[in-house]
Amino acid sequence: MYELGDVVEMKKPHACQTNRFEIVRMGMDIKIKCINCQHIVMMPRREFDKKMKKILKKKSEEK
Ligand SMILES: [Zn+2]
Repeated sequence: MYELGDVVEMKKPHACQTNRFEIVRMGMDIKIKCINCQHIVMMPRREFDKKMKKILKKKSEEK
């Protein structure tokens, strides 16, 4: 399961061709920030669950 601060890969890359997003807010809606251009995308959690491909880096595993 993903959590705040994780870096994820989406099924579709961002318009800038980067496919690394950091989860910057979690609630009913989820906000993800493109690691490359800092653009923030907000979407309902259900939509995020469908569009997220995999977790690239767990925040909780950083020491
Ligand atoms: Zn971008």
